[in-house]
Amino acid sequence: MPVRRSIYKSTAQLRAMIEPGLITAAALDAVRALIAPGVTTLELDAAASAVITGRGAKSNFQMVRGYRHTICASVNEQVVHGIPNSRALEPGDIVSIDAGAEYHGWNGDSAFTFVVPDESRPEVVAERSRLSEVTEGSLWAGIAALATASHLGEVGAAVQDHIDRSGEGYGILREYVGHGIGRKMHEAPSVFNYRVPDPGAEVRPGLAVAIEPMVVLGDQATFVEDDDWTVSTRDGTAGSHWEHSVAVHDDGIWVLTAPDGGAAGLAPFGVTPREIG
Ligand code: MG
Ligand code: MG
Repeated sequence: MPVRRSIYKSTAQLRAMIEPGLITAAALDAVRALIAPGVTTLELDAAASAVITGRGAKSNFQMVRGYRHTICASVNEQVVHGIPNSRALEPGDIVSIDAGAEYHGWNGDSAFTFVVPDESRPEVVAERSRLSEVTEGSLWAGIAALATASHLGEVGAAVQDHIDRSGEGYGILREYVGHGIGRKMHEAPSVFNYRVPDPGAEVRPGLAVAIEPMVVLGDQATFVEDDDWTVSTRDGTAGSHWEHSVAVHDDGIWVLTAPDGGAAGLAPFGVTPREIG
């Protein structure tokens, strides 16, 4: 597969992606602070929107044709692309929130999962929290792999290995993958969350990608609901989605959508993020 030069950005271009990354992180932090039973995903959407517009940025999700919201909020058997609505969050719900900001023509994209506390169902909370924990771990394993990878395929292998090593028998979605990011939220190349025969794009300074494992308790098969957006598991089991936008530059890697550049998440893997010169 030919690799176009255009997937590699200059140092100045990567630097321009820091602010939209931080705005995206702040929007997700605002959502995180609101999480409680009774809160609706529309209220979470409004909180994310206020942060993004308040910092002079635009919601890049709203620039996706046919989509009107700032976040995607996927609840329980929904894995990705859930549309915010007026349903109140219930104890024990597992919710994945995905958001992105465009600032001065550059994009950020990030997602996290949380479980609404439920004292009456500790086993459900434990099972779903473990799913989220392992999925987040697989994201960091993929990011850590990017630090030393020669080709992008090594990222997907690291994500899959992390999931497989958990011994939980989780499914990894196959139809939805990560992507390059820059002037547009979704750019080439694809970033798989599993092993593929093709080694993928060369990893070298200038590469900026969104890595986003989508993992489910049961079988990986999904369908798109009647709203034409929401991706749900066929077997009805819960899903988790974690995502960060990451830059590869001359001195190493930097997680654009984490205020610490990914230092905390990468520490268990012995990787230290480096600021973009
Ligand atoms: Mg996203
Ligand atoms: Mg993405």
